[in-house]
Amino acid sequence: MSELSVPSRRSWAEPWKVKVVEPVRLTTPEQREAAIREAGWNTFLLRSDDVYIDLLTDSGTSAMSDNQWAGMMLGDEAYAGSRNFYHLVEAVQEHYGYRYLVPTHQGRGAEHILSQTLIKPGDVVPGNMYFTTTRLHQELAGGRFVDVIIPEAHDPASEHPFKGNVDLDALESVIRENGKDRIPYVCLHATVNMAGGQPVSLENARAVRELTARYGIPVYMDATRAVENAYFIQQREPGQSAKSVKEILREFCSLTDGCTMSGKKDPLVNIGGWLATNDPALYEEASNLVVVYEGLHTYGGMAGRDMEAMARGIAESVQDDHIRARIGQVEYLGNKIAGWGIPIVKPIGGHAVYLDARAIYDHLPQDRFPAQMLAAQLYLDAGVRAMERGIVSAGRDPATGDHRYPRLELVRLTIPRRVYTQAHMDVVAESVAAVYSVRKSTPGLRMVYEPKYLRFFQARFEPEA
Ligand SMILES: *Cc1c(COP(=O)(O)O)cnc(C)c1O
Repeated sequence: MSELSVPSRRSWAEPWKVKVVEPVRLTTPEQREAAIREAGWNTFLLRSDDVYIDLLTDSGTSAMSDNQWAGMMLGDEAYAGSRNFYHLVEAVQEHYGYRYLVPTHQGRGAEHILSQTLIKPGDVVPGNMYFTTTRLHQELAGGRFVDVIIPEAHDPASEHPFKGNVDLDALESVIRENGKDRIPYVCLHATVNMAGGQPVSLENARAVRELTARYGIPVYMDATRAVENAYFIQQREPGQSAKSVKEILREFCSLTDGCTMSGKKDPLVNIGGWLATNDPALYEEASNLVVVYEGLHTYGGMAGRDMEAMARGIAESVQDDHIRARIGQVEYLGNKIAGWGIPIVKPIGGHAVYLDARAIYDHLPQDRFPAQMLAAQLYLDAGVRAMERGIVSAGRDPATGDHRYPRLELVRLTIPRRVYTQAHMDVVAESVAAVYSVRKSTPGLRMVYEPKYLRFFQARFEPEA
């Protein structure tokens, strides 16, 4: 018998097996052509039934475990004091370490409450790159967002391992220029969605903590993908590889005063969110305000069963095996696309692969919406749904009314957690290659309808003749 040669580097696989399947529909090119036209060339306006592989977002698209589904049956739907609320409080205290919890219907509910509680008209909120809903709530409360992310974050080709880091000099200048009394808090995103799912190092978070403490300014984290951030710290930051993701998450959170959370991302549920804080005065005000906008402070817009699923999801989300497989899948897709020389944001982020639409369609100026068009082309090619993260998402400057022209003009291929297989990733990569191969003859778009708020969700376009 001949000797088998075992490869030195062994393959890994997901730490779960499939129990329930959900059929997806394959469409013809003609059906997709009709669907994208009806959707105004905006992938947000497509019907899910017309999509084959849905990489629009990782928001609320996770597959729950059998343990989470079992928890759904244990929902205590009491109006007040549901037992599931207390389970959620315990999960947040154990894994994130914050003392007080205000549940909300999803992340933006928490952003609304935090903004209304802390921001006064004329205030300035520094943060490591904007996020759409976060900045809008800051602005609606009368604040102004100022970006203090390191310059590498704006360069898709930079391989900086922590492109989400705060530029400490820029932060200190903003504090000096405006005065500490005009800065209600620093908003620390970890990871940074709009920079490509890029992490913040523990060292940088500690430095932000030390700097802001000198001025008495609190730090609130957008903890939506803080578990993914903790994994990158474990993998990339010197001296951190022996710690578990769980331990790193706790340590990272301990450098902040609280957080807003979209439960639809890291915590592995389809709906829900929360605001957490260590500040009893903020908790008191927020748990009063939540009654006005979301629901009583022991459910905040979630059913008891939703809170139970999230409590269990949080415990699953911090397991090293889970997060390694989750980010490993994103890296598999990104490496395959990059291996063919197609420009993507490097390093590959935690929740998505970002295609550099500016580089791919280098014949299109930004106000002809190259990323919007690239997302539409991916749909037309194989029924893969992605999303624009460029000039359309950036919206207009409220002062001048002009488009904001972000340096990053990207298409996001966002991977839902525990939903698709490696074969799905292969189909996606091949579709990207097909669209890339005809890039030179692809026209731009004109915007024919523009809504007032968060225009990327509902704007409509037509291809240029
Ligand atoms: C999704 C998201 C939010 C908003 O959360 P929702 O649950 O969608 O309201 C806030 N911040 C970041 C970084 C997000 O990705």
